Amino acid sequence: MSCEFFNISNSETPFQDRTTMTLGTEPFWKTKALTEMTPEEWESICDGCARCCLHKVEYKDTGEVHYTNVVCRLLDMWSCRCTSYEERIKLVSTCLVMTPAKAAELEWLPRTCGYRRLALGQELEWWHPLVSGSSSTVHEAGISVRGKVLPEQYVHPDELVKHIIHF
Ligand code: SF4
Ligand code: SF4
Repeated sequence: MSCEFFNISNSETPFQDRTTMTLGTEPFWKTKALTEMTPEEWESICDGCARCCLHKVEYKDTGEVHYTNVVCRLLDMWSCRCTSYEERIKLVSTCLVMTPAKAAELEWLPRTCGYRRLALGQELEWWHPLVSGSSSTVHEAGISVRGKVLPEQYVHPDELVKHIIHF
């Protein structure tokens, strides 16, 4: 068995205030494709869970990808936001920037990921900041990694398989 780990990015742009939604009109994430969103709209699709900032183990023989409870060193484990969002690609070479194509293609993305859900034609869940109007609900619902993870500095890469978790 062999393994490798890699990360993708999470957004730190604040969620869109639900007061920007006009009464009687559908919100933008229900009417626009991911490819049609403005940069601000796109960033607000991230729910702030930071699940994508967890290290992952890939079994090369089966292609299975499993998440671990070990998280990128740049993550603020309380806010679940990247501490160097603008520089993240330079600082963490494996941090992959989300795109509409990746949201549709990467099967290992969390089922809860806002980008993944919209790419698959699913609704955003009640705890998504755009739906709830609060950035706290992703934590209150137990979706974010807050309180559940270890920083990568404390785990040897060879030990990652011992840290596999299932959402
Ligand atoms: S650099 Fe690390 S913490 Fe920041 S977005 Fe990428 S994986 Fe997440
Ligand atoms: S898994 Fe998706 S929604 Fe969660 S932090 Fe990553 S990009 Fe954002």
